[in-house]
Amino acid sequence: MSVIYDRVALIGLGLIASSMFWAMKRGGLAGEVTGYARSAETRDTARRIGLCDRVCDSAADAVEGADLVILCVPVGVMGAIAAEIAGGLKPGATVTDVGSVKRDVIENVAPHLPDTVHFIPGHPLAGTEHSGPESGFAELFDNRWCLLVPVPGSDPMAVARLRALWEGLGSNVEEMEADHHDLVLAVTSHAPHLIAYTMVGVADDLRRVTDSEVIQYSAAGFRDFTRIAASDPTMWRDVFLTNKDATLEILGRFTEELFALQRAIRTGDGDHLHDYFTRTRAIRRGIIEAGQDTDAPDFGRAKKPS
Ligand code: NAP
Repeated sequence: MSVIYDRVALIGLGLIASSMFWAMKRGGLAGEVTGYARSAETRDTARRIGLCDRVCDSAADAVEGADLVILCVPVGVMGAIAAEIAGGLKPGATVTDVGSVKRDVIENVAPHLPDTVHFIPGHPLAGTEHSGPESGFAELFDNRWCLLVPVPGSDPMAVARLRALWEGLGSNVEEMEADHHDLVLAVTSHAPHLIAYTMVGVADDLRRVTDSEVIQYSAAGFRDFTRIAASDPTMWRDVFLTNKDATLEILGRFTEELFALQRAIRTGDGDHLHDYFTRTRAIRRGIIEAGQDTDAPDFGRAKKPS
């Protein structure tokens, strides 16, 4: 593959940024990659492990001369970062982000950016429960979706170039409107995370079941919840605060369905339960057929990608 952007700046050096860096190197997609993170500790770690060609001590230094700036920070601080870098952006540069919520990012970032740059929000649908500069790996985006959310008036050439980068990183790329993105993600990611947090919280509260029993006998269902509930607290706090309406809408529907299932259990309505579980099983099959997961049994023994 060939270089798509000569200079790329990564702002925030956690799971997503570090995975993008390793995948850009794997594909030879970028000339020089600069990086910036808030804490000196993260910047030192990045220097130690060779994450970024050059780690800068300010966001302004990192974006200087960059053709592509990628905001890889929690959704709640995107606006503040945009304000910080706006004055130093190269005319003609593209600014994108990887935030899990899109309407809020657009509303908070776009007003700060000069007319001379292209703003093309994005969201890779790939992640793990790990965070920080050492958690990334080049294969994270392989065969995963990346949604681009161009704002009205986006330059098609700039969008095509960013699409080429994501394809080079291994992703399948689709364009989507911001509000629709936020609703789809509320269903597929945000509400499920909240439910996982709740279930793990319930187990924690249930003192009749001791901690050691919860850990020792954790069956696949609960263990999967704990994996999701181990995700970064700052990132997920920001997701719920910034995708409030869509998440509340989906949680409202979830609660209604939960009551219906609760009633079926109480009244012994086995047909209802069986029909419901047959329908949900088909969804799992659809995900496997779409290549978004494998059918292999994983009893918690899968190796972490290295
Ligand atoms: P992460 O591993 O926790 O890394 C976040 C990075 O942002 C860190 O380098 C952190 O710096 C920096 N940062 C935090 N607050 C900052 C501030 N106020 N100013 C400057 N830098 C700050 O996070 P991540 O998982 O890569 O997530 C980054 C973005 O990707 C989020 O918007 C998230 O919604 C989105 N996303 C995440 C996933 C996922 O599964 N994790 C998937 C898709 C999209 P320090 O290390 O110095 O604190």
